[in-house]
Amino acid sequence: MPLTSNEIVQNTLEFARKKDESDPLRKFRDQFYFPLSNGNLVRYFTGNSLGLQPRSTQEYVLNELEDWASWGVEGHFHSRMPWFQYQDFLTDQIAKLLGAKPEEVVSMNSLTTNLHLLLVSFYRPTKTRYKIICEYDAFPSDLYALQSQANVHGLDPEETVIYLKPRDAEHCLRTEDIVSTIQENADSLATVMLGAVNYYTGQFFEMKKIVDAAHKAGATCGFNLAHAAGNVRMNLHDWNVDYACFCSYKYLNAGPGGVSGIFVHERHGNDTSIPRFAGWWGNDPETRFKMPRKFVPAKGARGWQQSNAPVLSMAALKASLDIFEKAGFDELLSKSRSLTAYLEFIIQEINSNTMKNGTDVPIRIITPENPEHRGCQLSLIMNKNGRDIYKLLTDQGVIVDWREPDVIRVAPVPLYNSFEDVFQFGKLMESAIRSTGT
Ligand SMILES: *Cc1c(COP(=O)(O)O)cnc(C)c1O
Repeated sequence: MPLTSNEIVQNTLEFARKKDESDPLRKFRDQFYFPLSNGNLVRYFTGNSLGLQPRSTQEYVLNELEDWASWGVEGHFHSRMPWFQYQDFLTDQIAKLLGAKPEEVVSMNSLTTNLHLLLVSFYRPTKTRYKIICEYDAFPSDLYALQSQANVHGLDPEETVIYLKPRDAEHCLRTEDIVSTIQENADSLATVMLGAVNYYTGQFFEMKKIVDAAHKAGATCGFNLAHAAGNVRMNLHDWNVDYACFCSYKYLNAGPGGVSGIFVHERHGNDTSIPRFAGWWGNDPETRFKMPRKFVPAKGARGWQQSNAPVLSMAALKASLDIFEKAGFDELLSKSRSLTAYLEFIIQEINSNTMKNGTDVPIRIITPENPEHRGCQLSLIMNKNGRDIYKLLTDQGVIVDWREPDVIRVAPVPLYNSFEDVFQFGKLMESAIRSTGT
């Protein structure tokens, strides 16, 4: 269903509705709750921040509450989906979304916590090899995690963490620059840790090339998949990624603070020489309840678990994973491309309709143009009056996201956004630009 070359794309309600009618995934929209604004459903473009609630989630969570009521502690073994192994009910679906093997993933904890736990294992600084490379505009929690890891090891974060900056007048990172920074630090580099999709620009990094460069330099390579999981196609296993963590409340719609998860490559999964912060849930399930005094890790990523499964949160994630499976990830990605291409087209239309002096356009897209290098999100720099425009959009029920000093992020999500959503966004954006005299 991509916006094909023989199709005349139009900035009209009629065109958008026609696209929606021929969208094989259109029925999924009705499986989500949309908030209301002035009595109307909002146009929701912040699935990159907090995905909408599937209508089925309540039932999944209620089932666990019922089983808890019926079984008490015995629910660990006798509930419909025994809590003892609850995390294992999710691994196949998570593995498929991430391009991993089931034993390479497990859902547990929350995101920043997981990043720390992975760094404990995969950031092992020595006197000579201690540096970390990350994005300059990484999500703040990632910056804090990396800087404080340096502190924990008695290192100075200023000298330890190397920040990748875009070239002058550019907003995204060039792969060649990432690779050359890795090469320049090859002798002292311990790990490379990037967001797979940068939260701010929406850039989807060329992960395999980065992993290869990091390994060539003798460093490990990991990713925070917060903005990538459920949004872009990855092959973590084949790309030889060492470690990764993801969250479930953005594109995976598992609700506020939803359970996170990790990926540990098979090469490391059973390597007991890798140190870790162990807990009983990571112990071999055969002996977990026998309470041995000595930790024997479970195979693969599961051996990094610490605490018993947060079942209510995992039930919400399971509800969403079942929807992803029904929709099909290939179909979702194909719709995602069309939807974001349509958004890009609509923004170009707005620019040409409101341009001043022949060149002065109100919106600049900083997300890469190449669909291979982005997911569904487009990040827009507002030339002028960004805050007022953002406020006007919000007042009219268009939910987008504002980042100081001048960026609006818009994420049309293929599971529940429509072409009509994108069209209406454009109409309201254009009128906001005109009414603020931008
Ligand atoms: C959303 C996000 C976080 C948030 O971390 P939590 O621990 O879930 O609060 C961290 N890092 C990145 C890259 C994110 O996108």
